[in-house]
Amino acid sequence: MHPVAALNEIAFWLERELAPTFKVKAFRSAAEIVGSLSTDEIAARAADGRLTKTKGIGARTFEVISQAVDGAVPDYLENLRTTGAKPLADGGTDLLAQLRGDLHSHSEWSDGGSTIEQMVAAARSLGREYLALTDHSPSLKVASGLTAERLAEQLDVIDGLATGGAGSSDGDGDTGEGDASDGDAGAAGDFRLLTGIEVDILEDGTLDQTREMLDRLDIVVASVHSKLRADSATMTERMLGGIRDPHTTVLGHCTGRLLSGSRGTRPPSDFDAEAVFAACAEHDVAVEINSRPERQDPPDDLITLALDAGCLFSIDTDAHAPGQLDFLAYGAERADRAGVPVDRIITSWPVERLLEWAGRRR
Ligand SMILES: [Zn+2]
Ligand SMILES: [Zn+2]
Repeated sequence: MHPVAALNEIAFWLERELAPTFKVKAFRSAAEIVGSLSTDEIAARAADGRLTKTKGIGARTFEVISQAVDGAVPDYLENLRTTGAKPLADGGTDLLAQLRGDLHSHSEWSDGGSTIEQMVAAARSLGREYLALTDHSPSLKVASGLTAERLAEQLDVIDGLATGGAGSSDGDGDTGEGDASDGDAGAAGDFRLLTGIEVDILEDGTLDQTREMLDRLDIVVASVHSKLRADSATMTERMLGGIRDPHTTVLGHCTGRLLSGSRGTRPPSDFDAEAVFAACAEHDVAVEINSRPERQDPPDDLITLALDAGCLFSIDTDAHAPGQLDFLAYGAERADRAGVPVDRIITSWPVERLLEWAGRRR
């Protein structure tokens, strides 16, 4: 087994179980370090012990590299494969199988931990047909939101990737790294990296990016990230502003609640859910079912309300690392339990239909 593939797959499994960032980083960094060396060179440096003295290679990562160089599946990886072999969620497996894409993900360009290429490689390995890269907008400074200039730069980078961008339907962008559970990049030839943004809905209800830049993007996820405790009338007006903007394709994690995790817990925001979902139905904005285990947003009763309002849905992972792209199983389980018909889930649509729909209001 190639040591780089082993290290990246370990990181994938750890991300999938929401392991602390520092723990995952050790494997991703080690993969980068040995990734710059030839296989023979790695073997030579493992044999004579030079690797143990290399900054960024610890006892655990050295053991993984040595076992991989010896042609074995490293023990540490073998254990993770065994414990991770079970799907993340028990229910919703039929629905999950019908989902083609994911419209909410972050890279190291904002507050994600991985490169665009690593996110793409993992999405492909998981069998996704498309993934929208939706890094944050400028006002979210804590998450290094992208200015118009940096977003333009990102679009250039995506354009240069063989896998991505509007208009280019494929290519071989698989770096052989960032491998996922089964290492099967079988979807090759049929993958699209979509351009996008998770744009803040500002307090006045406008979107936190220039019109020109929003016009250039395939997917716009509009979310509220600040003043989450505002009164219901204020929050409702703010959300309605974001929904009415013709660029908006998806309303992100609408209540903002947090159920657990390192950021603590947070109750759902107060807003007039009937008015918000009626506006989503009227303006053809999909309501996101955010799959992150600490979000599970919207709550079950609001999914039902949105369903009754005639809304479309987008089941997204909001992944900040490759392994988190597998969270889709959680969202599928919740949508299935709520009885959301598959055709009302835009992420089950073929990419051509999705893009035609996403561009219709512009
Ligand atoms: Zn968000
Ligand atoms: Zn996000």
